[in-house]
Amino acid sequence: MQHTPILVVGGSLVGLSTSLFLSWHGVAHIVIDKHPGSSPHPRAMGFTETTLEHYRAVGIADQIPQVPAGTRLRRVTVDSLAGDWKSEQAWTPGEAPVRPSELSPCTGAAIAQDRLEPILRAAAIKRGADCRTSTELIDFRLEQDGVLAQVRDRISGQQYEIGARYLIAADGAASPIREKLGIPRSGVGHLGVLRSVLFYCPGADAFLQRGAQQFTIEQQGYRAFLTTYGDSRWVLMLDGDEDRTGAELQSAIRRALGADLAFEIITTGRWELAGRVADTYRHGPIFLAGDAAHQLPPTRGGFGANTGIDDAWNLAWKLKRVLAGEAAPGLLDTYDAERRPIGWLRHQQTFSRPDYATRAGAAFTPDPLFGNDALEFGQLVRSAAVAGAGPDLPAAAAPGQWIGQPGTRAPHVWLERAGRRMSSLDLFGKDYVLISASETWLAVAGELGLQPVAAGTGIVFPPAQPFGALFGVPPEGATVVRPDGVIGWRSQGAPDGGSIGELVATLMR
Ligand SMILES: Cc1cc2nc3c(=O)[nH]c(=O)nc-3n(C[C@H](O)[C@H](O)[C@H](O)COP(=O)(O)OP(=O)(O)OC[C@H]3O[C@@H](n4cnc5c(N)ncnc54)[C@H](O)[C@@H]3O)c2cc1C
Repeated sequence: MQHTPILVVGGSLVGLSTSLFLSWHGVAHIVIDKHPGSSPHPRAMGFTETTLEHYRAVGIADQIPQVPAGTRLRRVTVDSLAGDWKSEQAWTPGEAPVRPSELSPCTGAAIAQDRLEPILRAAAIKRGADCRTSTELIDFRLEQDGVLAQVRDRISGQQYEIGARYLIAADGAASPIREKLGIPRSGVGHLGVLRSVLFYCPGADAFLQRGAQQFTIEQQGYRAFLTTYGDSRWVLMLDGDEDRTGAELQSAIRRALGADLAFEIITTGRWELAGRVADTYRHGPIFLAGDAAHQLPPTRGGFGANTGIDDAWNLAWKLKRVLAGEAAPGLLDTYDAERRPIGWLRHQQTFSRPDYATRAGAAFTPDPLFGNDALEFGQLVRSAAVAGAGPDLPAAAAPGQWIGQPGTRAPHVWLERAGRRMSSLDLFGKDYVLISASETWLAVAGELGLQPVAAGTGIVFPPAQPFGALFGVPPEGATVVRPDGVIGWRSQGAPDGGSIGELVATLMR
């Protein structure tokens, strides 16, 4: 039997991101996936600024080409790719498909899942991860001090056991782990099945120069959805769970292209369109992450994989601190408290938008829409690891409106430190960081083992965005940012017993 602090089951986008973040935090773990590598039919290709911020923190963003600033996914309704382009649909009605570039040091990436996964895997392994492919979880049982997993090497056929203190189920929407635990899911549920055909067609790439990447094809008696992985691979999505012959697929592709372009079919796929969020993200030592926790259809907000990668970012530092004895085990409860509402927020926002509203059915009550920037940079988390994020606050708001509110992402701004330009986000990642202009607070940070950052002297904020205005903290106050870049606490005044006590409670020591 082998032992590991953490067993990650599932080595796709979320499992590999978890592995990368854990290795970056120096946490030993094993990640297993039953497949030998990435699926030949990629799914995701749109990765948001937040995801790239996490990859930037762990040092791999330079391996992932990012889109030019301001670029967002654009969808148009067309007769065919080469035919009439009729109208463009905004993801959020009334919002232009551009994002102000000052909100993040990253712009997001358009990279196919099967190109990104090898980058994640290699980076995780380089940082010490034990990544095992063709290795399947057969069964598991809860033990007093963790989980005992039975796994099988699918190449040699050898079966063995792995004992783990914690298990992360990143085993996808069908999650055998979640199913065995009997964790129910809620949401709009099953909405249909789509069939896809992936094909290689360099001749179609020229149409991308017109600025759109997603195409709703509408012809008499024919409706489909066409998009590209940006590397001459295109995918055509067809409604309905029908087996189609090679000739039928070729004809469907020709109709969608609307021009005599040479193409070659690579493979086909079958996808369930559904909206489901697990009723809990934690069962004892087991955590659900990614599609195992929330199954959401592909959106232009990138709510599928990106939400799962953000789950991993939230969980990795908490596991690290608890395993290292730096925080009480209760810190791990804040994973469900913080991430499940985000899963719900994204479920509700997905089905309240025109892309999916008609599919959600009459029983679904749409929520008021939040803007694109609010959903990407202005979500609020509430838990015992955040002080002062009450139920009166909205689930999200435009990032500029939060002004340092605990529970929100610390804002990005370009700073100067010792003559070097850096993003404020570069200050965060591994430790709790206390930022203040007050010497007294900086001394308290030292006593509590927090990383002190002297606003105005140690780091220089731009004159138009001074620390106090950006974080909502007066010169005698302080703010504390958690390792995941979320503001955890702030004080408007000089240190006293009450504010220090609240800070210590938030650190969950
Ligand atoms: C057509 C399409 C396009 C999409 N586009 C986007 C996009 O642009 N952006 C975005 O953010 N999201 C997108 N998504 C959603 C995205 O693909 C998923 O959210 C994402 O892949 C989920 O990742 P995951 O790691 O949680 O699960 P999965 O990718 O489903 O991976 C689960 C892994 O677990 C492994 N596994 C399962 N059981 C076992 C076991 N017993 N033992 C060992 N291994 C096991 C599987 O082999 C698999 O590798 C898209 C989805 C579709 C269908």
